[in-house]
Amino acid sequence: MNIYRPLTGGISLNPTHIVVHCIGEFVKPSEAQCIELGIHFKDYHALEWLEKLGVSYHTLITPSGDEINCRKTNMKAWHAKAQGFNHKSLGIGFMVAGVYNLETLKKRIKNPYLEGKQEYTGIDIVSSWRKQFNIPEKNIVKHSDIDLKKPDPGDGFPFDWFLKEVQRNIDS
Ligand SMILES: [Zn+2]
Repeated sequence: MNIYRPLTGGISLNPTHIVVHCIGEFVKPSEAQCIELGIHFKDYHALEWLEKLGVSYHTLITPSGDEINCRKTNMKAWHAKAQGFNHKSLGIGFMVAGVYNLETLKKRIKNPYLEGKQEYTGIDIVSSWRKQFNIPEKNIVKHSDIDLKKPDPGDGFPFDWFLKEVQRNIDS
């Protein structure tokens, strides 16, 4: 697989916020989407799918809890267009194990979906971002908080617990 991860280049960023997302580990596009994007009708790995859409997070966390660093934290990524968030935020995406289209993903993320070490990897990353850029807890948002059209990261993401664990990690 040809993985597109432009670590550098683009527009510089001084992040004041963090946006939490999720994405299917594999994405099954509709035929209409494939025609629109001019791509083959097949399942796409999340990284490949992001490339097709021309969007990016700073980091992605695989179902096994590994981090895929996609953009430098001092460079802008394209993950949250609403309210100008691309210009001020870091984006973290948790992969949801399995193959999904938009509808099945929406359903899946209503229930807990994080696997194994995913949440701990996420806590480490968000803690280090908060420390590095002095980002207050109130500036960590769910994608659905800033863009009502977006379902992610869903009720299945333990957001309040996650924020508390991040704070605990910073304090320890
Ligand atoms: Zn999102």
